[in-house]
Amino acid sequence: MIILFLGAPGSGKSTQGELLANFKGWKWLSTGQMLRESEEPWIQEKLKTGELFDDDFITELALKEIAKYENVILDGFPRTKRQAEMIVEAGVKLDKVVEIDVDAEEITKRMLLRGRMEDNAEVIGKRIGIYEATRDEIVECLVEKENTEYVKIDGKGTPEEVQMRVRENI
Ligand code: ADP
Repeated sequence: MIILFLGAPGSGKSTQGELLANFKGWKWLSTGQMLRESEEPWIQEKLKTGELFDDDFITELALKEIAKYENVILDGFPRTKRQAEMIVEAGVKLDKVVEIDVDAEEITKRMLLRGRMEDNAEVIGKRIGIYEATRDEIVECLVEKENTEYVKIDGKGTPEEVQMRVRENI
C-alpha cells in the first residue's frame, strides 16, 4: 500500500501522515526528513536556502527508499509535476492520494501563531499560492490520468479529530 499525503504548508499533513503510519505500523517516508538527516554537507547547505532539490536527485532517493517497504505513507514527495511523472514512469503505482484540506484563512492563522520569523501574511500567501499550483499538477497527473483513488479530509479541528477522520476514510 502506498499512500500520498497532500496538504498545504500548515495543513497538518505531516502530523496526520505520521500518526497514521504509527497507528498502522507503516513506514512514514518524508523526503524533507530524509534530507535533514543526511550527513552530506552540500545537502545541509542547500536545505538552508529553502530551495527545492533537483527532481532527478530527489526522485532517485525516494524511489530507492519506497522499494524497501510494503506499506508506505509518502510525505513531501512527489512535490512537483515532474516528480509525479517520474514515479509513474518508474511503474510505481499509488493506492491513494489523501489531501488534508484547510482553507487559506485557517492556514494563515495557524502559521502566524507558529510565529516563525519569515512567516508574515504576505509570505504565507505566496507559499499557499505555490502549493496550490503544484498540487493541481500533481492531482492531474496522479488522480485524473492514473485514476488513483482520491480522498479529501477536512483538516479543521484538533490533530486527534482530524486523525479520526483520516482513519475512517482509509
Ligand atoms: P517544508 O514543507 O517546510 O518545505 P519539508 O520537510 O517537506 O518542509 O521539506 C524541507 C525541504 O526539503 C524543502 O524546502 C526542500 O528544499 C526539500 N525537499 C523535500 N522534499 C522535496 C521534494 N520532493 N523535491 C524537492 N525538494 C524537496
